[in-house]
Amino acid sequence: MISLYVHIPFCASRCPYCDFATAPATSPLRARYLAALRAELEREGAALGRPRIGTAFFGGGTPSLLEPDEIAALAMTIRSSFDFAPDEVTFEANPATLDRARLEAWCALGATRISLGAQSFSARALTALGRTHRPEDIAPAVAAARSVGLAVNLDLIFGRPGETEAEWRADLDAAIAQAPEHVSAYPLELELDPSLEWEAVTNWPGGGWPTLERWRSNATVARPDDDAVADRYALTGTVLEAAGYAHYEIANWARPGQECRHNLVYWRNGEWLGVGGGAHSHLAGVRSHQPAGLLAYIARIEGGEGRIPDPGADPAVDTAILALRLSEGLDLDAYALRFGSTARARVDAALAPLDGMGMLERRGPSVALSERARFVASEVFVRLIPD
Ligand code: SF4
Repeated sequence: MISLYVHIPFCASRCPYCDFATAPATSPLRARYLAALRAELEREGAALGRPRIGTAFFGGGTPSLLEPDEIAALAMTIRSSFDFAPDEVTFEANPATLDRARLEAWCALGATRISLGAQSFSARALTALGRTHRPEDIAPAVAAARSVGLAVNLDLIFGRPGETEAEWRADLDAAIAQAPEHVSAYPLELELDPSLEWEAVTNWPGGGWPTLERWRSNATVARPDDDAVADRYALTGTVLEAAGYAHYEIANWARPGQECRHNLVYWRNGEWLGVGGGAHSHLAGVRSHQPAGLLAYIARIEGGEGRIPDPGADPAVDTAILALRLSEGLDLDAYALRFGSTARARVDAALAPLDGMGMLERRGPSVALSERARFVASEVFVRLIPD
């Protein structure tokens, strides 16, 4: 059994902080992209022997922008190419682009869960982030999702330009008032990495690179400082946990039993197929990806080429880092059985200096990051990467 990720890159506009592989919803390449996506699904389903799909996630981009007939065509291809009986199917949505016909098409595909890009309940903050939806779009979107039986995740962003602690606290209270099963909260990331992002930027007319650079440099000046952002993160944990949400991953909180099973497959370094531009896969211990540029992706599929292997992947290192993202942590005994005593000794040596610093929690054979270490997790992860 594997999981399935399907990338739908289309968005109504490009949010200037976004690093995902996106493209305009009005792109003349949209029909060709969706045809390539279906061709890739058919090809992978056949090559992998029509595997059972345990969980599926439609991310983007803005999958909720797809028309009902586009969703139905995808559903037909997925059902004919895979043994598609998943426990959980999530799709990402913009609160302003949901309607009954689209929701019903997603439910016919098997959707059980919606991830709404709420980001904030403040009009000022949404404008500061360059978002196109309004605070008043969020509650009706949650209600519409509930009316068709979907569990709800709300995505939130903190550390925004001009944000005050009171504004963030109000966002957390407003999110809780919607009673979502799950909340994801991320600090605003502003670093531009041309090597990673150029391909996706080229999907937009004119590229947009100077605009992104200008926006991010202004936002860097206007955002709260690092200590304030760390305080916001701590506040997030305190407020959400008091409201009954468990902090099960660095940026994710859930009601009991409502953790995102699909994302847990990633964090437990399980097996998944990712299809579409910029999608990553992890199958039979090998990581691979597709190009993020629409034209490059379409050309690759139309040319009959497969996924691009990731040369630098190290399963032992990846597994340790991913496990430490989770509150359940890394079971060192199981890790030694899977990767050998040398790999375990490397992890032990990397983590030993952190004992006694309040950064680690050890429970039996498992080690996890403490609540206070989670905000600086990347500083721990870097210790696990061999020189
Ligand atoms: S809607 Fe989401 S995926 Fe699209 S540009 Fe904005 S943040 Fe990125």
